[in-house]
Amino acid sequence: MDYLLDTHIHTISSGHAYSTLTENAAAARLAGMALIAITDHGPLTPGSAHELYFMNFKAVPAVVEGVEVLCGVELSILNARGELDLRDEVIRHLDLVIASFHGVCMAPIGADGHTEALVNAMKNPHVRVLGHLCDPTYPFHVEEVVRAARDTGTIIELNNNCLKPGSRRLDRADALRMYRLCNELEVNMVAASDAHHHSAVGRLEHAKAMAQEAGIRQELILNTSPARFKDILSQGK
Ligand SMILES: [Zn+2]
Ligand SMILES: [Zn+2]
Repeated sequence: MDYLLDTHIHTISSGHAYSTLTENAAAARLAGMALIAITDHGPLTPGSAHELYFMNFKAVPAVVEGVEVLCGVELSILNARGELDLRDEVIRHLDLVIASFHGVCMAPIGADGHTEALVNAMKNPHVRVLGHLCDPTYPFHVEEVVRAARDTGTIIELNNNCLKPGSRRLDRADALRMYRLCNELEVNMVAASDAHHHSAVGRLEHAKAMAQEAGIRQELILNTSPARFKDILSQGK
């Protein structure tokens, strides 16, 4: 089955990414994507956009360069309470909210603390995806987190960037164990590029390889149908 959507893309508004929304959309069309989500970093990442940026998405057309565009954000988890760097009043209006650990916003606090942070972030009804969980800098208790993902209806990301062999953000054995457990507990997953330049948009080969190696059932990977993905988002948590 073809992957038709890429749900994690940064633009120049993130402050350390290098392509515009339009350049990303054009690259997505060439890569065969029907839908993308623009997910710039939250305001606490140095150089990223002010919250006003996330409040003005009505300015963005629903379709750009022939590709459907969802307007979202990749927030940083800030502490064990699972607090994030944009207010609920702002994120409740966005199409897609990803929550991730980033060193610039939260120093590692140990596996117990990371687990608590992830579980608490998932309790936020607006957080729909946990981003790049394969990062060994932020170890966590896999079973507890995957069970919480199942219980809260949170999607786990297959981050192509992190899953690249040799990535500093990858412990492959841990990642495999986590994705196998996601499969076993029927947690939805989505492959995403985490592109910081348009040349990476729609590149999902490492995510696909992990999905295959972990034996994930096709129906648990949400990339094959934009309609189904949007349907799941619209159902809420
Ligand atoms: Zn990230
Ligand atoms: Zn990202």
